[in-house]
Amino acid sequence: MAYTSLYRRYRPDAFDSVIGQDHIVRTLKNQLASGNIGHAYIFTGTRGTGKTSVAKIFARAVNCLHPVDGSPCGECECCKELSRPNNFDIIEMDAASNNSVDDIRSLIDKIGFAPTVGKYKVYIIDEVHMLSTAAFNALLKTLEEPPAYAIFILATTEIHKIPATILSRCLRFDFRLVPTKLIAERIRFIFDDIGVKYQNEAVALIASSGAGSVRDALSLADMCVSYCNFDVTYDGVLEVLGASDPQKLRSLAEHIGDGDADGAIREIASLCDLGKNVSLLASDLAALFRNVLYIKHCGDDAKSILALPDDVYAGLKELADKYEVPRCLGIMKIFSSLEGELRYSSQRRILFEAAAIKACYGDESSKANELAARVSRLEKTVMALRKSGFNQAPAIMDAKQVWIHIASRLNQMGYSLLTSALRDVKMELTDSEFVICVPDAATKKLIDVATNAEAIRAAAANTPEAMGRAVIFKEELQVAKDVALPYVQDKFGPYVDIK
Ligand SMILES: [Zn+2]
Repeated sequence: MAYTSLYRRYRPDAFDSVIGQDHIVRTLKNQLASGNIGHAYIFTGTRGTGKTSVAKIFARAVNCLHPVDGSPCGECECCKELSRPNNFDIIEMDAASNNSVDDIRSLIDKIGFAPTVGKYKVYIIDEVHMLSTAAFNALLKTLEEPPAYAIFILATTEIHKIPATILSRCLRFDFRLVPTKLIAERIRFIFDDIGVKYQNEAVALIASSGAGSVRDALSLADMCVSYCNFDVTYDGVLEVLGASDPQKLRSLAEHIGDGDADGAIREIASLCDLGKNVSLLASDLAALFRNVLYIKHCGDDAKSILALPDDVYAGLKELADKYEVPRCLGIMKIFSSLEGELRYSSQRRILFEAAAIKACYGDESSKANELAARVSRLEKTVMALRKSGFNQAPAIMDAKQVWIHIASRLNQMGYSLLTSALRDVKMELTDSEFVICVPDAATKKLIDVATNAEAIRAAAANTPEAMGRAVIFKEELQVAKDVALPYVQDKFGPYVDIK
């Protein structure tokens, strides 16, 4: 027996087995029940969402003698006759390969002949946006004055390419992307039906790879069944997809999140050596950070939404705990926009590495945020100065004057020993820094005590006169006098001193 693809074999033959298009199914059923049937329909939506399937069910339902809840019964003579591939009353044409005016003419050539089996002749034109202008005009003429028994169903993935004159004569139905959950249910039903073993995570991965298209998901399911020999595992699906090993991908994501460009480049090299395609890698990384964002926002619900294997989920959870939302968003943006750029480039790996490095360093907006924060700090300082009596612009102070203010704050904090120890130390002021020069080992020891350094920084941060400058310790260690003096006097005589 010839192999029939799962998509064909499980193509819905009644409205109830159409998934994810309830709004359309309900409207069509109501029309059938009331007999209020249109002469021209246009079905639009992404491929694999059920346009042609619904068109075929509708074509048989309008002719069925004993419809069951709006769907064709499949048993009456009309249903039996119309399920034969080359019957005379359901006429299908693929405009992708038949788009000329002659093709349309030969299609509607016999429209004057009444239906042979049921009440209606139904014309289904797939990919109708491919018709030439002349072909559209010929079609339009027929749509303007169709015989009472003719119904046209036009299907397209690109509604914007359809002339307005055609659109205005059609009832329009928009097919939605099918939710992943419904696709997964369908796949589980089919796998159970044909006796395929599967992991739930594997089915979830197949369903989400379909990206809303039942056909794409079922084609992938087909490949996975053959590849995994009727036992579909998560790893097997990853291999069929050519997707990256979750552990390696996670490790790359972590290098990038940590800003470790070296590690990221090394990881990319190892993934590329394994033959990974960088376009896939980019979309995998974008998806990974999207999942991390899900975990950050949805908490424990994310586990059931994402339907990932436990170890993969645990790995992502760690990343979610580690990185902030803006960081994840920034990285996700870089890699999702990269997917588009890679399509038209011959230097894919270089582009990918450049993007990874860019992601490591964070995007420009975070730098802008930093700058904005600094400006607002300065503004606050100026406001504080004004309030404390400086009505004019703050006087320009030198480092020692600033230090006096910081020191008084330090004294209040109980660090008077520290202030007196630093009294004679050299200090400098730059635009953004307050520099304390550490002249000798003793002072260095004092500064090396973490609480002391912290106290100085805290005091400076709370001193408006420091104008938000960061405190920096600069080591200018000189040889201590008591060590150096005997040596110098030995050389130059006892009257020499060191200042
Ligand atoms: Zn029937």
